[in-house]
Amino acid sequence: MPKFEAKIVSIQDETPRVKTFRVTWPGIETFTFLPGQFMMLSVPGFVNAAGITVKRAYSIASAPADKGFLDFTITAKSPVGLSSRCHQLKVGETVIAEGPAGHFGLKKPLHNLTFIAAGSGISSLRSMYRQLLLEGYAEPITVLSGFKTPADSIFKDELRHLAHHHKNFHVIMSITADDPSWVGLKGRVTAVIPKVFTDAIARHYYLCGPPEMVNDTITVLTGMGVPRAQIFREAW
Ligand SMILES: Cc1cc2nc3c(=O)[nH]c(=O)nc-3n(C[C@H](O)[C@H](O)[C@H](O)COP(=O)(O)OP(=O)(O)OC[C@H]3O[C@@H](n4cnc5c(N)ncnc54)[C@H](O)[C@@H]3O)c2cc1C
Repeated sequence: MPKFEAKIVSIQDETPRVKTFRVTWPGIETFTFLPGQFMMLSVPGFVNAAGITVKRAYSIASAPADKGFLDFTITAKSPVGLSSRCHQLKVGETVIAEGPAGHFGLKKPLHNLTFIAAGSGISSLRSMYRQLLLEGYAEPITVLSGFKTPADSIFKDELRHLAHHHKNFHVIMSITADDPSWVGLKGRVTAVIPKVFTDAIARHYYLCGPPEMVNDTITVLTGMGVPRAQIFREAW
């Protein structure tokens, strides 16, 4: 697998537990990947108890058409894991990126594209919808994104910005917490789907989130008559 010493050029705080790291390396202009793929990241010197370098998979959150950099949106999970080590990194420091890898990605026919995410699962879907918009794809794209609280809603402002500037781009956000300040849908994505996708059978779905959410979403969609062949998924 190709290996790169990637320099962090910016760090964006998305939520208290999620940061987006933008990285680059000399010659990145010729690096190719498909939207939905991931890289194996490691931090120099960060090893496990056996002295072996810790590597974890992170989806590329930027699009191939975003030339010259890659984004990784990382949730701090285990306090002793690589994700929390990444959260300690500063601009100018380096990570080792190996890849790309993975088969999750856009599959033809590209009609009625519907992206459904829970939590940081939106990062791999972001690469896909950004690529489509940057290529000028004009058919409808819908993103349904579920979070616990408004403060957890990753890419909320960017999603609203994209919906404002692309008339084919539709965003539905839902939270599970009982927050009276939230003006919008409430409930898990599985509860929201039957209310908002009355044309469910006509859509092609890309799901990303925790395994339980992905499996439950497939159950809901197939229960509504969506052919399994119209559903693509990644869970982590
Ligand atoms: C294809 C793929 C793509 C992925 N893309 C992304 C991505 O874009 N963004 C992203 O954030 N992640 C992504 N992941 C998940 C990522 O690879 C790691 O699994 C995640 O960051 C956790 O790694 P870690 O080293 O921090 O934790 P690890 O040390 O691997 O520990 C992980 C597990 O330890 C448990 N745990 C241990 N101690 C604690 C504790 N004190 N408190 C809570 N939990 C604890 C948790 O249950 C957790 O599930 C992806 C995974 C895959 C397979």
